[in-house]
Amino acid sequence: MGWGRLIWLGSVATPLSAVLVLRTQEVHTGLLGYAALAHLVAVASSFLLPWRRWSAWALIAFPVFSTASVAVVATAVPGISGVYGGFFALCFAYTGLFLPRGASVVLLAPALVAYFGTLPAVDGTAFVRATFLAVAWIVLGELLGLLRRRQVALLHELRVENETDALTGLANRRGMERFLAGAAGGDILIVFDLDNFKRLNDAHGHAEGDRALRTFGRVLAGELRTRDRAARSGGEEMVVLLRCSTESRCGISLTRRLRAGLESAYPGLTFSAGIAVVDADRSVDQALEAADHAMYAAKTGGRDQVWVADPDRSGELRPVADFGLRRPDAVPVS
Ligand code: GH3
Ligand code: MG
Ligand code: MG
Repeated sequence: MGWGRLIWLGSVATPLSAVLVLRTQEVHTGLLGYAALAHLVAVASSFLLPWRRWSAWALIAFPVFSTASVAVVATAVPGISGVYGGFFALCFAYTGLFLPRGASVVLLAPALVAYFGTLPAVDGTAFVRATFLAVAWIVLGELLGLLRRRQVALLHELRVENETDALTGLANRRGMERFLAGAAGGDILIVFDLDNFKRLNDAHGHAEGDRALRTFGRVLAGELRTRDRAARSGGEEMVVLLRCSTESRCGISLTRRLRAGLESAYPGLTFSAGIAVVDADRSVDQALEAADHAMYAAKTGGRDQVWVADPDRSGELRPVADFGLRRPDAVPVS
């Protein structure tokens, strides 16, 4: 949009400077002055408009207005029509870069009308020239648009890859930091840590441990709604952000469903979990720390349990689910 304003200013600054440099004899100063004033008013009032709320097509106002004003200014200073050649190309470059696909085709009609307006006479060769120019403008606009869309898609792909854990497909630590930054009061944080995971690795090998982690990630992802987020924060530890209004209860029910799902997907694999609610008295960082403490309390309490941090604001941790399925001396195997 900033570039659109520059094009607006450029469409009047170009003839003004051309008049000064080329010292054109024939100048309708009044018309040129009005055109300059109209541009300044348009640029100033464009700051007041809610462009971001409108469709990207609204931006076509910039190149359409600019090409039209080129025709007006060319009438005011007929001797300098030659300086506009590159200006039309700029309008198409802007359209390709910032407007949706096909916008340069839409711009073609007003641009051609303006182009003929800048010519002292419209004859057969003018039409041939205009045809060549029209093809070049469209190719320029659409090619730049294509390159920009590819760049945006590539950046999105890189960002997703950069924030995804390759083993589980959940977010990685970077992704977790991003979603935690968007957490708000009422959201719930759950910290999970798989129980006796080292023992599983030692007994069945790292590859089997990886398979267990993948299974946990899959079952966890299957239990989440689209607005919830989950990350592997490190090793065999996961963090979940739940967006629900029923305080810790929906966190507890998630851990129950997860426990049941895991028992059939990977029998014997258990987890300890801690839950904390983000609220006015507890920032996201504090809630994460509280959930971590609650998870360690679940470990100390015997594993395969879920504890909630300070559920009734008494400053205490409380066990809320003891699944009672743990086999502390057994190595979980599928
Ligand atoms: P606790 O119940 O107290 O959590 O015991 P634990 O054995 O799960 O905890 P500990 O922190 O002692 O061991 C975690 C193990 O997780 C150690 C490490 O080898 C294993 N681990 C971490 N990342 C990976 C991974 O990507 N793949 C596999 N297979 N193992 C991993
Ligand atoms: Mg751990
Ligand atoms: Mg562990």
